[in-house]
Amino acid sequence: MFRISDRWFPNRTSRRRRGWLIAALATLLWTCGCAAPADVEALRHAVADNQNPSVPGPQALSKDDADLRQPDSTAPDGVAADGPAPDEPDSQAQAAGSAPCPGVRCVSIAVTGDVLLHPPLVEQARKDAAGTSRGLDFAPMLRGQLPYLATADLAVCHLETPLAPADGPFEGYPEFSVPPQILDALVTTGYDACTTASNHTMDQGFAGVVRTLDDLDAAGLAHDGSYRSAADAQTPTVIRTGPARIGLISVAYGLNTGPADEPWTVSLLDPAAIIDEAKRARAAGADVVVVAIHAGTEYETEPSSEQVAAAETLLADPAIDLVYGHHAHVVQPLQKIDGKWVIYGLGNMIASHETPIDATREGLLVRVTFSQGAAGAWTTSDVAWVPSLQNVAGGREWCSLTAGPICTSADADRIALARTTAAVNLLGADADGAQPLRLN
Ligand SMILES: [Zn+2]
Repeated sequence: MFRISDRWFPNRTSRRRRGWLIAALATLLWTCGCAAPADVEALRHAVADNQNPSVPGPQALSKDDADLRQPDSTAPDGVAADGPAPDEPDSQAQAAGSAPCPGVRCVSIAVTGDVLLHPPLVEQARKDAAGTSRGLDFAPMLRGQLPYLATADLAVCHLETPLAPADGPFEGYPEFSVPPQILDALVTTGYDACTTASNHTMDQGFAGVVRTLDDLDAAGLAHDGSYRSAADAQTPTVIRTGPARIGLISVAYGLNTGPADEPWTVSLLDPAAIIDEAKRARAAGADVVVVAIHAGTEYETEPSSEQVAAAETLLADPAIDLVYGHHAHVVQPLQKIDGKWVIYGLGNMIASHETPIDATREGLLVRVTFSQGAAGAWTTSDVAWVPSLQNVAGGREWCSLTAGPICTSADADRIALARTTAAVNLLGADADGAQPLRLN
């Protein structure tokens, strides 16, 4: 029997209209270079308020959020039949930087790469919290993403490592244990969910997994990839947005710590098991199912044979609409395969490797839009990407390479943009319609 938990938020139109306002204001501020702290703070609050579980806001419902579970459904197949239905089609709704919805309705999901909190980032968060009552503040590092995430119905991050107790101790490589204060920043920036299956998921053992899931639940972030119980591992994560329900599946190629004592603790890269999970998500009401694969060869732009084989197998199944990934710490290509898309590697969202290469400071934010045709089927209608560069010299901030202000220097930005663009298009993504996302 499926148990679907729905945390209900407002409809697409209201979120998107807020998104336009936030995006327009943020673009204006970024373009004119006058994004004073107070303005940014106001923007953050505008989005943060939307995440307050007490206020109807967009999206997240997590299967692991026990307080939010609906009662077991009485529908014959176990699909949750109650709860608000997705919005009626609204042809007027259109996110910033989007083409008009070609179908009866559209839903968009924004995804980003590894959140990998090496010690220099914790130190930066400590500096950024100076003069406040917070000990650590990661929001300034992430704030550049805010106007982009505001244009999507669902925003999903990848939490690569387990969370520590709030007062530490915090650890970097090889067995990470990172500040849970990152979750406040992720929520403030506009994230609704995080994937948690990675090679580091078990760095702090089962206790670290449970602590991380507890913290995600407390922050109101949906999640998939690691679990407290075998039953949770079998229950699909389906996230309700205004226009549609999205199934989220997260898997990793393996674990640095060796196999988990209980194999259900972390989902691993097994295409047959992923397809089964996707079918369970469909049966639980998902309109669209996306799969996040944490795999690849570190620092290699080209996808590994394992990544390619997995993408081809998964996208050939009608239960799966999108495959995307992370782990390589550099940007990898996007590719259209038989009408669906794979995003092989998003690079780092935020990280500070001990031996950095320039490409590890680069990343992608990709917004994928799905459109429902008159007959009911969903297809990918738009793929738009934002190239990012982490400004190591100036506060370690995530910075869009196409938003206007220089991230590091004109030369460094140009090189990063050229490298990212070449990686994205290595397998013909531009010819197949993937375009940079620019806010109007
Ligand atoms: Zn990894």
